[in-house]
Amino acid sequence: MSKGILYDATLCIDCKQCEQACAEKNKLPYNDAIAAEQRQSDHKFTVVLAKEDKFMRRLCMNCNEPACVSVCPVAALRKTSAGPVIYEASRCMGCRYCMLACPFGVPRYEWNSVNPKVQKCTMCSDRVLAGKQTACAEICPTGATKFGERNQLIAEAQQRLKDSPGKYVDHIYGLEEVGGTSVLLLSSVPFEEFGYRMDMPHDPLPSRTMAVQSRIPDFVPLWGSLLGGVWWITHRRDEVAQAEDKKEGGRK
Ligand code: SF4
Ligand code: SF4
Ligand code: SF4
Repeated sequence: MSKGILYDATLCIDCKQCEQACAEKNKLPYNDAIAAEQRQSDHKFTVVLAKEDKFMRRLCMNCNEPACVSVCPVAALRKTSAGPVIYEASRCMGCRYCMLACPFGVPRYEWNSVNPKVQKCTMCSDRVLAGKQTACAEICPTGATKFGERNQLIAEAQQRLKDSPGKYVDHIYGLEEVGGTSVLLLSSVPFEEFGYRMDMPHDPLPSRTMAVQSRIPDFVPLWGSLLGGVWWITHRRDEVAQAEDKKEGGRK
């Protein structure tokens, strides 16, 4: 049975305890300045966006059939049967195809590290495998972030929509987008207002990215190892920063 996270924005109070718990879990810094950052980054795997009194979380959707996994030439990213999409840094060659492939603009790169890695939420895979809930769900004081069996969370979300039809946008985000995701969202305001695209295909993206991967030439590993050049990094960083800005439209 696959696990999932249901985030109900109508229950969220913007306390940001999920952000802090995520930072602690992943041994990342967290302070007032980082709390104020309204974007995901290599040191902030989840963010609670705020627009007046409405809130929305962003984190890796841990897609059922992830585009990031399908384009990774060295299988550094992998979907687990339990739900989390995990990352093995030791396999990663730094090509950053995953960053370009992800439809949600999630993976980030440690541009300033001498030993850079891709960073993203991996749905607390070690905790999930140990039978625990994710750190962000465990800490949430209102139940806005809830962990459980994906099927049961879907049933619960459907019941909430049925019980309070005027309260929510009539849509469970992640139920069908890109073939379904382990993270499911409910909201009272249109998801687009927080940068979630509503025109996502309902078929899994890997069916499209596989065609790209099959055309990756053999010289890619060598090319990947050469990407450390200062000129390239400088220009690539700007490119990706712009792409991140476009994809994460909820940023303030
Ligand atoms: S949201 Fe992006 S990074 Fe996360 S699993 Fe899906 S494709 Fe991969
Ligand atoms: S599931 Fe784990 S890694 Fe992902 S946002 Fe929540 S606490 Fe962070
Ligand atoms: S811990 Fe729960 S209530 Fe607090 S900001 Fe996160 S999701 Fe919202």
